[in-house]
Amino acid sequence: MVPYKHEALTDFSKEENKKAFQEALKKVEAELGKKYDLIIGGEHISTNEKITSINPGKKDQVIGVVSKANKELAEKAMQTALETFESWRKWPARLRADILFRAAAIVRRRKHEFSAWLVYEAGKPWAEADGDVAEAIDFMEYYGRQMLRIDKGVECLAEEGEHNEMYYKPMGVGVVIPPWNFPLAIMCGMTVSAVVTGNTVLLKPASNTPVIAAKFMEVLEEAGLPAGVVNFIPGSGSEVGDYLVDHPKTRFVSFTGSRDVGTRIYERAAKVQDGQVWLKRVVAEMGGKDTIVVDKDADLELAAESIVYAAFGYAGQKCSACSRAVIHEDVYDEVLKRSAEIAEGLTVGDPKDGNYMGPVIDKAAFDKISSYIDIAKQEGKIVFGGEVDESKGFYIQPTIVADLSPEARLMKEEIFGPVVAFCKVKDFDEALEVANNTDYALTGSVITKNREHIARAHRDFHVGNLYINRGCTGSVVGYQPFGGFKMSGTDAKAGGPAYLQNFLEAKTYTERL
Ligand code: NAP
Repeated sequence: MVPYKHEALTDFSKEENKKAFQEALKKVEAELGKKYDLIIGGEHISTNEKITSINPGKKDQVIGVVSKANKELAEKAMQTALETFESWRKWPARLRADILFRAAAIVRRRKHEFSAWLVYEAGKPWAEADGDVAEAIDFMEYYGRQMLRIDKGVECLAEEGEHNEMYYKPMGVGVVIPPWNFPLAIMCGMTVSAVVTGNTVLLKPASNTPVIAAKFMEVLEEAGLPAGVVNFIPGSGSEVGDYLVDHPKTRFVSFTGSRDVGTRIYERAAKVQDGQVWLKRVVAEMGGKDTIVVDKDADLELAAESIVYAAFGYAGQKCSACSRAVIHEDVYDEVLKRSAEIAEGLTVGDPKDGNYMGPVIDKAAFDKISSYIDIAKQEGKIVFGGEVDESKGFYIQPTIVADLSPEARLMKEEIFGPVVAFCKVKDFDEALEVANNTDYALTGSVITKNREHIARAHRDFHVGNLYINRGCTGSVVGYQPFGGFKMSGTDAKAGGPAYLQNFLEAKTYTERL
């Protein structure tokens, strides 16, 4: 088997790639508006209640109409998953991994087509959509190989006359609840990690992006995944989500999303229900309030570029997005000015047309981010952007807010949109203090040439993913395992060598010889 290597990103400066992408956009546009069913045990089920998925950049464009599960159908899916677990858990790891490799090959062959779905359904600009699809491929290639490694077992010490070993076994039925912001990559990674380890899955996609998840179900089927291993049950988080999180037969919940929902799931899953004979495991990867620290001894152009691209890529809708720039007073004015100049060069508009920044995901996000822009006017000074427009889609200008106090709401709360807060500090000590002053601890960067400060950040900047002299987004599967501390989650480190163990039980075997 060739060693794992991450999927290359598409170079859109090449004319042939641009053309191929435009053709994919055209092909997918012709497929918009179709109906998608639930899939339980391979059976396609159409329901009366539907989720209508729309294009956030062009509100009148329907991406697809997806059947919606209720509690009864969620229960049917649970029973199917329990039954299928009894056969799936016995499949050799090698064969389970092969399905992931085949699914990766299918997505790779249709890469631009999948990216095009992300442009329409999630409002992703081309490069962001391409990155999302590449990451989905990476998760499948990486977790497939990790499973083969884990399958070899763990060597243990042994006294003379005994044989000891520790090996891993699947756990049961997992509920997978992904977010909309990496609707292919994260949804795929969370699903295939649970499946390759021999578990069966109830997949409840985010209600904003169920069509891309339905397209991924087609890939799994084509790759040969047996019916009932992944059961597709779109539906309301509060109805279907709560029901399955509480279910006594749920063995684990794999969640990525907001702090509010994550802590709710964590709490509910902790309650042992009647008939439940295990403690549920919860992987909860949640929000961030991610900071780029700029030292006085820094490459200022690099600092401004790192802030702007990490703040405004995918309109700031990444858990890793830079939402705070904490800058030494000696260089603050210059970095602020340069950041505004770079932001001015970013195009905002329909992502289909190749703009740098598209819309935010929906009306609720638009309203929430707009309200933070109002707060920004009271707490600081808007030096760039601040305009919003929902006439055609949910568009918000890249917005830079200056002169915030470390305690301002803009400095503490996750906005999850294209708004970045600038804060001036007197030295590196204060910079680290401010960087660590939120409830979150997901990603962070330091831009500096000072080795001693790099060493201090290495020790004291409390984040799950720390970057030096680059922006704080763009972790790569297998290269930068991803996950945070504090209220950013359970630090599961997706795309890392220990991630699959979240969905496995370790069993120790001892035989007297
Ligand atoms: P969200 O509102 O928490 O939704 C996430 C998922 O939870 C959706 O599938 C949602 O379903 C479901 N849900 C809602 N209520 C539920 C309930 N009571 N029980 C079970 N499931 C429920 O988050 P989001 O807006 O999709 O995503 C943005 C958030 O995700 C941000 O905070 C971001 O920082 C975080 N995020 C974190 C990471 C990470 O790795 N740490 C990565 C990406 C995103 P519906 O769609 O049907 O409501």
